[in-house]
Amino acid sequence: MTAPRSRVRPTQCICVNCGDTVHGRANTRRRGPDIAWYAHCRPCADLVADQMQPLGLLPGGGVDIYQCRTCDSLRVCRTGWRTRCHTCLDERSAGPSLTVGARLLARLPDEPALADRVRRFAGLADTDTIPTRAAAEFRAAIALGEELDRHRRDGWTDLAGDVHGLPWYGARQAPFSHGTWGLHLRCGSWQRLRDRTCAKCPPEPDDRTFAALRDTPYLLYLVRHRGLLKFGVGGASRVRQHLRAGAQLVEVVEGRHADVIEAEAVLKRQKRAAGEPLRWWRTRRMPESFGAGTEVVRNGVRISLADYLRDGIDVTSRFTSTPETKRDSA
Ligand SMILES: [Zn+2]
Ligand SMILES: [Zn+2]
Ligand SMILES: [Zn+2]
Repeated sequence: MTAPRSRVRPTQCICVNCGDTVHGRANTRRRGPDIAWYAHCRPCADLVADQMQPLGLLPGGGVDIYQCRTCDSLRVCRTGWRTRCHTCLDERSAGPSLTVGARLLARLPDEPALADRVRRFAGLADTDTIPTRAAAEFRAAIALGEELDRHRRDGWTDLAGDVHGLPWYGARQAPFSHGTWGLHLRCGSWQRLRDRTCAKCPPEPDDRTFAALRDTPYLLYLVRHRGLLKFGVGGASRVRQHLRAGAQLVEVVEGRHADVIEAEAVLKRQKRAAGEPLRWWRTRRMPESFGAGTEVVRNGVRISLADYLRDGIDVTSRFTSTPETKRDSA
């Protein structure tokens, strides 16, 4: 894809992924196509040519949701344009694209708990050295989680966005993007999240946006339905939604908002490493509350949420001991 001309910045003449200088216009003999808003050299562009799979989920056809074949994470991009995973770097990633990772590595000797979380994210053993690339990917995953969280609101799931600057810079670099989309559970439609209400459903006075959710403790939950486990983040109403849809509660841990977002990012990365991709017939039988199934794993995968949220409080009993008809306001 082509970056808007007025936005051309100095980084546009080096490959964002490896730091090599590139010459000429995008997608010409001496330069690869621009991908995810940034210039790429030809070898770096070739490496990710098949990384993202278009899912064809969004109405209208102008933009689509793409899924990373390596880690399953989602990114919105214009249909037919080239994008890449918000999180995954590759063996050619070098130079400035790893700076964020190097900075994080420098902190780890003083922050062993953080080092544990990075290792868990990367699937490393306690004694393994953390590669700079894994640290950079951790930063990118957290940044993505935080960006999407700003659009979180009751009643919506499977948020997907386009964070300009990821996976390389560990934070958003420019405000423009292809937008943030989500699935409204009540009507099952995908929509761009512009304001707080669904375009198709009457407004629900109880629904709260991120602004209202930000300062509340957050829940990391794990529920089971038939042969599937689903983890996720949200308030009590989100957990009850799953229970009403017929899922059984496995575990709920409450933690600081930022900690829960980070735990979710780690879990999402771990999920792919933990099991084979789900067979289509399994996801066909999911309850509607499970959404598109991006946070769903087979029942045999062992997950203990407390391992991901060490400072969290186990509040599972809050949901098993109160009558389900009670509307929770937490
Ligand atoms: Zn390159
Ligand atoms: Zn990925
Ligand atoms: Zn709706």
